[in-house]
Amino acid sequence: APAPPPARHLFSDPAEIEALRGNLLSWYDRCKRDLPWRALAATEPDADRRGYAVWVSEIMLQQTQVATVIDYYNRWMQKWPTLQALAQASLEEVNELWAGLGYYSRGKRLQEAARKVVSELAGRMPRTAEDLQKLLPGVGRYTAGAIASISYGQATGVVDGNVIRVLCRLRCIGADSSSLAVIDQLWDMANVLVDRSRPGDFNQALMELGATVCVPKAPLCGECPVKQHCQARRRKLLGKSPPVPDVEDCGVGDCPLCPPATEPWDSSLGVTNFPRKAAKKPPRVMRTATCVLERRGCHGALEYLIVQRPSSGLLAGLWEFPSLPLAQNLQEKKEREVLADHLQAWLGQPVAAKGLRFIGEVIHIFSHIHQTYVVYSLLLDGDVTLDPALSPSRWVTEDEFHASAVSTAMKKV
Ligand code: SF4
Repeated sequence: APAPPPARHLFSDPAEIEALRGNLLSWYDRCKRDLPWRALAATEPDADRRGYAVWVSEIMLQQTQVATVIDYYNRWMQKWPTLQALAQASLEEVNELWAGLGYYSRGKRLQEAARKVVSELAGRMPRTAEDLQKLLPGVGRYTAGAIASISYGQATGVVDGNVIRVLCRLRCIGADSSSLAVIDQLWDMANVLVDRSRPGDFNQALMELGATVCVPKAPLCGECPVKQHCQARRRKLLGKSPPVPDVEDCGVGDCPLCPPATEPWDSSLGVTNFPRKAAKKPPRVMRTATCVLERRGCHGALEYLIVQRPSSGLLAGLWEFPSLPLAQNLQEKKEREVLADHLQAWLGQPVAAKGLRFIGEVIHIFSHIHQTYVVYSLLLDGDVTLDPALSPSRWVTEDEFHASAVSTAMKKV
């Protein structure tokens, strides 16, 4: 069995744990942000609806800023106030409301899971983190812990990006924070720390601290309610004194939670020495040709052709202008030709590569893809019959386009 981590990286003193909980919770009571899902979770008597509201907010908050989520959350809860209402929605409606929020599979999975709760669990949300994770598709360890602690008062910890940062700083954990060994350690720590009588508030407080005080670049240590428990801060302050041996240092080079010997503490970084991550893989570079096909509709207004993407993979089920991934390093002339061929298949009529008007390039960064859209346009005259054997397609006005389930990238295009 691996050796237990050195004590300096753990919380083992009950008095310290109690003090940290108290300090954090009283700060949270004073400073917490007013968020609609918090209000609902605190006042809603129906436990299933509480769980549903927290679930929706947590899925939306994955990879998305709170300020952006509030409006989406309010519209969602207005349209589908209960699990039962969501279970009856179509995927098209879900995608339309989700449009612009990114990571579209989240909305789809949320709706599939709601259907499962209604059809297989008699509309009753599982009440523990273990059951939530086991029974609900798309609900991972973090979301399960958040729903169970916030909605049902289960004393279970949570670990998200904010919690990782705070805990790594509190306990000077400098090993790769995305490694399994560190993540396991942080979950254990979160479960030890979580307040037994106010677990939901405690978890939200720890996340809120990471989001508003212990921020990635310039943390506000002077205002931090848990600064007296923070080893990174202590280490930083020590660094200002004349050199003294750091009695808290772990054994040289073999501590699984310390920074690697090759990247020791950098005094110019202070507390932002923690957390550390292994270098990210560079995003995949992609080029896609896309064509805004226009025609005059029967009332004279311009209409645009949009087509639906396949139901799995990137941007599954969303609508876009006819698009075609390009091989790297194609000459511009060749790009036009392959795009013209592609459009020909849609329109069932010859499209001259020369007739495509180059508009410009649009760059959009997905989490793991650096995408460049090479944008062309083509005004069609005469009637066009779209081939029903191909993916669904339709003509839309500009307003209809914006109300459709289209990605942010396509809106930029
Ligand atoms: Fe983060 Fe600074 Fe607070 Fe430590 S003292 S937890 S580094 S904000």
